[in-house]
Amino acid sequence: MNKILVSLKENSYPVIIGENILAKIPELTVKYNLNKNILVIIDKNVYSFHKKKIQLVLRNISGKINYYILKPGENSKSYQELNKIYSYLLKNNYGRDSLVISVGGGVTGDLTAFAAATYMRGIQVVHVPTTLLAAVDSSIGGKTGINFENKKNMIGSFYQPKFVLSDTEFLKTLPKIEITSGLGEIIKYAFLSDKDFFNFVNKNFKDISSLKNKVLLKSIIGSVKIKAGVVSQDEKESGLRKILNLGHTFAHAFETELKFAVKHGEAVTAGVICALLLSNKLGFLSEEKLNTYIKLPLKIILSSKFTGLNKNNLYKIMQHDKKNRNGKIKFVLISEIGKLLLDVEAGKKELFYIFNEMERRIS
Ligand code: ADP
Ligand code: ZN
Repeated sequence: MNKILVSLKENSYPVIIGENILAKIPELTVKYNLNKNILVIIDKNVYSFHKKKIQLVLRNISGKINYYILKPGENSKSYQELNKIYSYLLKNNYGRDSLVISVGGGVTGDLTAFAAATYMRGIQVVHVPTTLLAAVDSSIGGKTGINFENKKNMIGSFYQPKFVLSDTEFLKTLPKIEITSGLGEIIKYAFLSDKDFFNFVNKNFKDISSLKNKVLLKSIIGSVKIKAGVVSQDEKESGLRKILNLGHTFAHAFETELKFAVKHGEAVTAGVICALLLSNKLGFLSEEKLNTYIKLPLKIILSSKFTGLNKNNLYKIMQHDKKNRNGKIKFVLISEIGKLLLDVEAGKKELFYIFNEMERRIS
């Protein structure tokens, strides 16, 4: 079992990572003095695969416990669903002394934590991520929210959990595409960290993909350490935390253009390829480094999804990204593993060049 601290003064919390560690939840709720009126908000797929085990473990907490089952998919991150959760909490007499536990991927975590952040001005929340993407990224850092008018994460807040418990056992029932998606964020962390972690991910990529436990754990721990370190220094994304957006300006454009045909992490992989190419084009990254670095994301990208896209659409989507000011498009770029540049601007001509170059490299 490994413990990584997200250090945020009175909002600090541990991320506990291991194989078969679900049974630790009852003692952790005691250790961290958490409330015993519990609502578990859980994704339906996760519930069908793992309900016996979860119920068996949570039965050991002496207190009220109910299960609220969520329909899988992005559509659940809505204010309609949020309303239903508030009503459920009220109807079942959950007061300020309650704890919600989210068991699921990013969708479940974002929605549950936003409900917890706002119900009665805030009740305790714990995350049990069950996707690789949630384990390495979305369950840590306190970003919560719902989608609004077809725009992702338009309404939300920063709200930190009491702890995160990441049990790799859950990942064994994940569809392959969800593993690929999580790998996209792990690749991002490989570029944000240091040469050791980058080389580790690069060398063991196949075994991580097939969930070989030792390397899988090491890759999750390595990613979480970076995220926890960054979030600890910049909780609300006023500066440093922006480095976590490496590849994401491109990724959001791919996701918007491809709608539901692409998973977030897959789009991040394509986005990282574009960020590497742009870093080189603007003179920050040498040709030699580019050619070495790009091999890692090229190992998993599915070229058919990212070729033949409408470049004009991609460009327009990027211009409207909520992180932009005055129509200028800003990027996180890289000059070396672990050395990032923030807020670098690029124009239409360069971006069209990057889209074409990406197509050429992935084909
Ligand atoms: P993300 O973490 O990528 O944001 P979601 O919350 O949308 O993902 O979950 C992705 C999909 O994986 C959903 O269909 C969800 O029901 C399913 N899922 C989540 N965890 C598991 C698991 N451990 N086993 C099987 N399917 C899962
Ligand atoms: Zn991401």
